[in-house]
Amino acid sequence: MTQQTPMMKQYLEIKAQYEDAFLFFRLGDFYEMFNDDALKAAQELEITLTGRGQGEDRIPMCGVPHHSAEAYITRLIEKGYKIAICEQVEDPREAKGVVRREVTKLLTPGTLMNGKLLAEKENNYIAALLDGGAGTYGIARCDLSTGEGAVTLIDGDFADAYQELLTTRAKEVIVSDTMTPEQLEKLEADTLFVVSYQERAKLGERYVSLVEGLAQEVLQETYGLLLNYLLKTQKQSLHHLQPVHYYSADSFLKMDPHTRRNLELTETLREKKKQGSLLSVIDESVTAMGGRLLRQWLERPLVDREQIEVRQHVLSSFLHAYFEREALRDSLKNVYDIERLAARIAYGSVNARELVQLKRSLECLPEIKQSLEEVDPSLAERWLDQEHLFQELIDLLEASLVEDPPISVTEGGMIRPGFSEELDTYRDASRNGKQWIAELEQKEREETGIRTLKVGYNRVFGYYIEVTRANTHLLEEGRYQRKQTLTNAERFITPELKEKESLILEADEKMVDLEYALFVDVRKEVETYVEQLQALAASLSEMDVLAGFAAVSERQHYVKPEITDARQVVIQGGRHPVVETVIKRGSYVNNDLNMAEERDMLLITGPNMGGKSTYMRQLALTVVMAQIGCFVPADEATLPIFDQIFTRIGAADDLASGQSTFMVEMLETKYALTKATPHSLIILDEIGRGTSTYDGMALAQAIIEYIDASIGAKTLFSTHYHELTALADLLAGLHNVHVSAAEEEGRVVFLHKVIDGAADRSYGVYVAELAGLPHEVTARAEELLGTLESTNNELAASQEESVPSVREKKTEPDTQLTLFQLDEPEKKEPKRSKSGERVLQKLEDVDVMHTSPFQALELLSAWQKDLRKKR
Ligand code: ADP
Ligand code: MG
Repeated sequence: MTQQTPMMKQYLEIKAQYEDAFLFFRLGDFYEMFNDDALKAAQELEITLTGRGQGEDRIPMCGVPHHSAEAYITRLIEKGYKIAICEQVEDPREAKGVVRREVTKLLTPGTLMNGKLLAEKENNYIAALLDGGAGTYGIARCDLSTGEGAVTLIDGDFADAYQELLTTRAKEVIVSDTMTPEQLEKLEADTLFVVSYQERAKLGERYVSLVEGLAQEVLQETYGLLLNYLLKTQKQSLHHLQPVHYYSADSFLKMDPHTRRNLELTETLREKKKQGSLLSVIDESVTAMGGRLLRQWLERPLVDREQIEVRQHVLSSFLHAYFEREALRDSLKNVYDIERLAARIAYGSVNARELVQLKRSLECLPEIKQSLEEVDPSLAERWLDQEHLFQELIDLLEASLVEDPPISVTEGGMIRPGFSEELDTYRDASRNGKQWIAELEQKEREETGIRTLKVGYNRVFGYYIEVTRANTHLLEEGRYQRKQTLTNAERFITPELKEKESLILEADEKMVDLEYALFVDVRKEVETYVEQLQALAASLSEMDVLAGFAAVSERQHYVKPEITDARQVVIQGGRHPVVETVIKRGSYVNNDLNMAEERDMLLITGPNMGGKSTYMRQLALTVVMAQIGCFVPADEATLPIFDQIFTRIGAADDLASGQSTFMVEMLETKYALTKATPHSLIILDEIGRGTSTYDGMALAQAIIEYIDASIGAKTLFSTHYHELTALADLLAGLHNVHVSAAEEEGRVVFLHKVIDGAADRSYGVYVAELAGLPHEVTARAEELLGTLESTNNELAASQEESVPSVREKKTEPDTQLTLFQLDEPEKKEPKRSKSGERVLQKLEDVDVMHTSPFQALELLSAWQKDLRKKR
């Protein structure tokens, strides 16, 4: 490359400081990008790639107009990119040489303050992770749009810290040089967030107060890391940030990200939609703030009995006061997002229109308070104990701002008449001047007799009098001064007109400046209320969520779960909160669940599609609902407080999501087995399905035994291995239940009713018949089943004699294999077609032990084809 132009030199210098971001380089009306940025942006944004320079020096370039830049920025952020906005920071006309340019803002997924990407009912978190040494990790999170900040200390390894990090649902994670390359790689591989780097440095003086309450230095440092990054990106002071609070991961019900996803708490597994999730059923909040709070509650259900019961108590009060509750919710509907407004006020980015929204919201407070008092006076005291209810603030906003101000704060039109005498004087001057000009047109028409004469205005020439060319001869000499000639008209001015014009323009300009100054004063005044407004927002969101819980509890007939200190889960008439809302009304079959003290594990068997998975998820969701303080879908429920929930869904069930392999299944099972405590809830859905029958069954049994002997957690275990039901006789804590099915006129009907005892059969053959397999196949299968079952009973009997450990079993596979050997197949066969013979021969040859369910399906399909071909 030859000599660089001074501008390119400037570009490259700035770009070097922002290597991981797109540099939007302001050139006139465009933001331009060069080199790799340009190549990548052209592709991501589908914009035209051009070039700058000649010949060898030519470099790729592309650009977006500055007035439509937001849409492009949004798209890039959505894809997880960062954008450095580089502006001209001096007037080009005054610049000597190249105009000075500086990055004025770094936009990143985790640092949004407003705009389309900021979902109303969701927090936008950014987090920081710091290795504190000696097996500790600090994690900090912050939502820049609300100012909320929190930190926690993880006592454990990187994997534990990583779990907690995922729980924050941050869009961006800040790290420093404490991460090892492997850790960095793991973080960077995650598609849920982008990773950004920040050097460790001391926290600026003015922010020290935010972290004063934090005991450990590592936490202060972690938050400092986050804050320094925010300061770097925002390039302005951040006094809207609220003091950081400490939370302990142990003070909430823990669920790893897989469990959250499996349980579809906030979005569905496959389509990632809110519709169909638990959230969609229980979210009756009417404010954006309430929506965000409910999500936070779902992320972190409580483990403190007292706190849960406080929420239950409030919910009960709301439940018993239908009209007052609905009146309250109606009032809340008129409340804007005070939490984010407060942040924007403190941040200095709030506009007049938003301040009017604030005023309207505050005006709802008296009726909100009244409704609360009618529901239960203690609620009003709890949430709105201030006498004044922000009346002074309302008065200020009412006196200062018009009802419908513009979004822009620099073009006037915001301040109410009567608020400032000076402003009113300017307005009069401007108005009078305009009035005079309006009258001028009438007067001149009459005096000149030219009816088409008009007075106009444009930015370049100001006010003028326009006369069409056909009429100019009617003007007496010297009446006006000629100013501009158009094709078919002449424009004139008069000294008087110009004099009025400058009066008007001067007044207008002063007016705009003064309005801005007045507005800034008002904003400053409002800023003194920020803390109170944040507290108010917290109260409003809480009442919103709890009133919403009451509404959904009433609609869906939920009951208050009784929280017990005993190790006892007893549910009568339980339902799956989501499934019951999506199937035909009244067709959901409710189910009891009995896990009294001594019943720690239920082994659930029954036909495919019988309702096993639903039954298990139902319990997990009921537990989550109870521990966020909501009522639960049942006729009666007694629940202990769980410390963690683990769910693992067998690989075969998870196949459709395309992300599960047997290895993943085992990794997650390992996670549950190593982390669970006696107070945990473990849900294992058809574990072992991802491998061959023999392996799978052995693993399943070993896992059950391990949980029984070494963990003692309440566990639901569903399986299609009927053989495992024999275990109930051997393990005291294990009990068999099954989903029932019945045969009606030769068809299987799934009753979805869970009853005690093991399933007597799996109905697989019936399902095959339903699917239309030739009778010869199903009849033969029925026959084989008989043989297998009788041998199996022998197995169960032999197991009773001595409980074999898994290892023992593995060393004697031959004895077990013989159980499935098809020794005398040919005795009393009816006459068959040739293809029938063939198929049966093949069936006989199949090595069932080494056939996956999917392979089996393929075989069935091939045989069926073969048989049909002949017919
Ligand atoms: P399994 O895990 O035993 O194969 P699922 O739990 O997936 O069965 O249930 C299969 C289908 O049966 C579900 O899609 C659901 O619609 C329906 N179902 C399950 N439980 C019930 C119930 N208690 N009442 C009504 N329908 C149910
Ligand atoms: Mg299932």
